[in-house]
Amino acid sequence: MLKRLRADFRLSIITILGATSLLGITPFAIMRFLQGDLVAGAIDTTLVLTIFGGMAYAWITGDTRRSGMVLAIIACSGAVVVAVVVGEVGLFWLYPCLVTTFFLVNPRVATLLNLTSIGALVLQGDVFQDDIQKWTFTATAMVVSATAYAFALRTNSQRERLEQLATIDPLTGVKNRRSMDEELNLAAAHAERTGIPYALVMLDIDHFKKVNDEYGHGVGDEVLIDLVTLIRHSTRKSDELFRYGGEEFVLLLPGVDGAGLVAVMNNVQHILRKKMTHPGGPITVSVGVALLKHGESVGSWLERADGALYEAKQAGRDRVVFSDTMPGTTPELAT
Ligand code: GH3
Ligand code: MG
Ligand code: MG
Repeated sequence: MLKRLRADFRLSIITILGATSLLGITPFAIMRFLQGDLVAGAIDTTLVLTIFGGMAYAWITGDTRRSGMVLAIIACSGAVVVAVVVGEVGLFWLYPCLVTTFFLVNPRVATLLNLTSIGALVLQGDVFQDDIQKWTFTATAMVVSATAYAFALRTNSQRERLEQLATIDPLTGVKNRRSMDEELNLAAAHAERTGIPYALVMLDIDHFKKVNDEYGHGVGDEVLIDLVTLIRHSTRKSDELFRYGGEEFVLLLPGVDGAGLVAVMNNVQHILRKKMTHPGGPITVSVGVALLKHGESVGSWLERADGALYEAKQAGRDRVVFSDTMPGTTPELAT
């Protein structure tokens, strides 16, 4: 539970909102009922229940985007309704809502929600004792919204940059091993749920050390970039390429098996053989392919692809080896 809270920022905000509304609004609901103010009591109770329901939905489904949107709308409209029903003292509730919206939805939607809430109260007008109070509220609510907006924009761009640094290989621009681990787990779970086949392709440049030794690291780097460009051009958009480490790459192919997978691999091999070169001549690549088996772990799947790659190296490099027998093929594809 703590792990999920730590990993998912929006879920933690939703949980804080759920917990604080339960603890913070429930006493007011009880107080209103005891005072005989049934309308205000019912509004407070509805708010607590819906916010708590939204939090439960986020925990159960993991869909924090949708529940964040619903909760932002409930919090803002709830604060407006409370202010209209109980008067100026209710205005205080809007301030935390104006800040929280930026943690629950994107900055543009949060700004729209905030302006709508502020506008609704100003237009309604009855909440305020006089114009000075009305314009003081408007100015302070706008200051809170504007600073929260600036903060949210900055936080979002920093988070995107951090995510990029943590998941993208800076040399080739493909995803790194860390994101590969996550995506392979997602793919395995998806395959288990839907029965869609997933193929894992492990590629390793042949005698790459010699390229570096003879022509320098700069040329080696260019070969790595060329390989990525060629694979990207010879595969579909839904296929995902990762740098596994050094001169080894992993390609994740959803939705292909059997003859279709053999055809894809033939095409990749054809293009690499035709286009992979360096100042010393052609560069070859060895490839191992494994189809995810029913109920198989990601570790075993990777091991089988790695085993097939090892076989390709042992058999003389520059070839594709399948860990599984594909219809109409032998486990090892002709060179
Ligand atoms: P094999 O055919 O058995 O795969 O031989 P190999 O020489 O390709 O394999 P080996 O594992 O011996 O060498 C891999 C080399 O890849 C060694 C390392 O210097 C080089 N390398 C790893 N990362 C980079 C990189 O980012 N840029 C460059 N230029 N070289 C790299
Ligand atoms: Mg190599
Ligand atoms: Mg290697």
